[in-house]
Amino acid sequence: MNYTEIMIRYGELSTKGKNRKAFIMQLAANVKRVLDEFPAVKIHADRDRMHLLLNGEDSSQILPRLEKVFGIQSFSPSVRIEKNFPALRTAVQEIMRDIYQAGMTFKITSKRSDHDFEMDSNELNRELGGAVFEIYPDIQVQMKKPDINIRVEIRREGAYLSYETLLGAGGLPVGTGGRGMLMLSGGIDSPVAGYLSMKRGVEVEAVHFASPPYTSEQALQKAKDLAGKLAPYSGSVQFIEVPFTEIQEEIKRVVPQGYLMTVTRRLMLRLTDILREQRNGLVIINGESLGQVASQTLQSMVAINDVTNTPIIRPVVSMDKNEIIEIAEKIDTFELAIQPFEDCCTIFAPPQPKTRPKLDKTRQYEARLDLEGLMERALAGIKVSEITAAESDEKVEDFSDLL
Ligand code: ATP
Ligand code: MG
Repeated sequence: MNYTEIMIRYGELSTKGKNRKAFIMQLAANVKRVLDEFPAVKIHADRDRMHLLLNGEDSSQILPRLEKVFGIQSFSPSVRIEKNFPALRTAVQEIMRDIYQAGMTFKITSKRSDHDFEMDSNELNRELGGAVFEIYPDIQVQMKKPDINIRVEIRREGAYLSYETLLGAGGLPVGTGGRGMLMLSGGIDSPVAGYLSMKRGVEVEAVHFASPPYTSEQALQKAKDLAGKLAPYSGSVQFIEVPFTEIQEEIKRVVPQGYLMTVTRRLMLRLTDILREQRNGLVIINGESLGQVASQTLQSMVAINDVTNTPIIRPVVSMDKNEIIEIAEKIDTFELAIQPFEDCCTIFAPPQPKTRPKLDKTRQYEARLDLEGLMERALAGIKVSEITAAESDEKVEDFSDLL
């Protein structure tokens, strides 16, 4: 079917009182960004609904993109029809011929906001129902949960027909909740943590620590690809690569084995916090999950978190690995995450990290480092790139070619 318009129903944002306008504007901006490649699409947002006028763009490419945009409860593609009864009648019959299968039930739901139109909604329901009986005399009408519900809307500018309602991603429009820095490794957990924060409206910038030549170009690309998987939920993600080699070498040189991991994590957190401040972020997000590995005990958290007062959001902290994997599969990050390119933590990981690091010792060992110089040099070498939804789509295609 050649859809001409998509009608979008807002999710939770409709309950947000006076913030509503800001929410709707953010959602419109996000929709615009994910539909960047379809410049003819026009967005009209009002208090209750958003309408995308497709202007000839291909709806089959647009619908899957909308499915990922947070803040959308559901959406219905529709066709614009000339505003007269014979045209509506023909269109309804055409739709039914397209989708009817024996035994299906139906109903017509008409709405008329243009009261100058020649028929009211009851008449429309009756007459258009009649048009359906004409081609399928045995079809049954069902008011509650029919298989086919053809919606007819008579508006001032035209008549619209739709029969499909697709489920949106729910959540809140990304950006309405402020900005957070996501510590993104190449693992399973941090992309899921990023996704879950985005779902609640947080705009995420990815910070990734790379230690070439110990970590490979592929490991870096993998982290970028993971960020790319998050991009379709907002339109794009900023990716900040932090050179971490010197710091890791230095830590390895001066810190006892058992505390390597703790001190390394503190440095990552310190640097992320500085970037957060520079880039107007409010919080830090990571993929820590309690008890998963040695560095993720409560004692570890205390020893690491010590370096900042900035709130750290840990969306997967209480999830079992299986639960995290389930989400990773849903957002298509799992396959990427299990590719065997080691990130900096794996390579520098000591055989036996302390599971209960002591705070005073941690501080003492960290003090052996020239913190200021090391951090300054790392920050001087950061590389920032924007990863867009469109690019990540291409990646997906390239990747599947390889399989
Ligand atoms: P993940 O699956 O996200 O890698 P993990 O279970 O492997 O997590 P750790 O290796 O202990 O856990 O890392 C804990 C968190 O620290 C990660 O979830 C991530 O947020 C952050 N982190 C670890 N390594 C990096 C890195 N190289 N760059 C950025 N953040 C990192
Ligand atoms: Mg990891």
